[in-house]
Amino acid sequence: MRPSILTVNAGSSSLRFAIYEAGEEPRLCSSGKVDRIDPNGFAGATDALQDWLGRQPSARSIVAVGHRVVHGMKRSEPERVTARLLKDLRRIRAYDPDHLPNEITLIETLLRHYPEWMPVACFDTAFHHAMPSAARLLPLPRRYIDKGIVRYGFHGLSYSYLMEELRRLDPRAANGRLILAHLGNGASIAAVHRGKPMDTSMSFTSAAGLVMGTRAGDIDPGLLRFFMRTGGMSVERFDEMITRKSGLLGLSGTTADVRDLLAKENHDPHAAEALEVFCYQARKWIGSFAAVLGGIDTLVFTAGIGENAPEIRRRICQGLGFLGIELDQRRNTRNAAVISRNESRVTVRVIRTNEEIVIARYVSRMLRKG
Ligand code: AMP
Repeated sequence: MRPSILTVNAGSSSLRFAIYEAGEEPRLCSSGKVDRIDPNGFAGATDALQDWLGRQPSARSIVAVGHRVVHGMKRSEPERVTARLLKDLRRIRAYDPDHLPNEITLIETLLRHYPEWMPVACFDTAFHHAMPSAARLLPLPRRYIDKGIVRYGFHGLSYSYLMEELRRLDPRAANGRLILAHLGNGASIAAVHRGKPMDTSMSFTSAAGLVMGTRAGDIDPGLLRFFMRTGGMSVERFDEMITRKSGLLGLSGTTADVRDLLAKENHDPHAAEALEVFCYQARKWIGSFAAVLGGIDTLVFTAGIGENAPEIRRRICQGLGFLGIELDQRRNTRNAAVISRNESRVTVRVIRTNEEIVIARYVSRMLRKG
């Protein structure tokens, strides 16, 4: 049996895992997932992962495990997990209290049960690490910047996958002016030029930027004081409001799910408004990143909404003809790989993202390098 790699991807309420055979292009052997994990029940999910591992014949050949780690601070590359890295991650727990504590628990649990597997951390922030300082710096007092309170950006494994796919599909386009739109329950966009990250909508935390399923995205920072002073709201409740009760869920009052919103928008004005604000903000971000890049050559849609919701892509792109974006309605409806018209100056693509294989490729490369 050839050596294989376990990939684990711990979300705030889900845990996804897969086993790949290591190699130049890792081959998927099996995968699984635990959904709807209660915020206090993450230990149960790691038990489920261990049960699952016990049932997989390919688990016997695992030699390394690649962890998606949401925050890597200044790290630009995947890294073997050491005591020092774990210490660093524990220190920055508060950067992302929804993800980091679960991810640390998972790393520690697997280390304890399978000490012979080489653990590797693959950071969701790494893709953006070389952003120009104008995009990276938050206009805060300098002492906070010095402490690392800057824009990091997220969804980096997904963006890495899109870049690898683009290099394969159209190397010239991969080198051009790109806007990558990762539109899922969490949503962000990134501007890339000559293969280099130029800017992204998420910031120090993944709460920033676009309107999302349950996150508000960018809002007036003065709201914190307003809610604390007038409603006696605590910081915890404010955070819960803007990360779990806002966005599409907040505006519609019923659901964060785009499929459900599309199904009921005709008879539910709040559902219609939620979708309108989502598409409006996405269009606004695309326009601002077009300004950052001095124009666009390629626009890529990915993740649950980006890959599967032609109607949302149509609404976002409506009115962007001035940038050279023209969709072909038939291609768009079919979720085709290229959804722009032949005459469109901008090539608009749909690419199905795959964060797990990016992790497996990184770990494979580390294994080859020894
Ligand atoms: P993700 O977080 O990438 O799994 O994306 C989840 C989002 O994708 C949810 O809002 C879903 O409603 C949306 N989505 C998934 N499939 C479809 C579809 N066929 N049509 C519209 N939205 C979809």
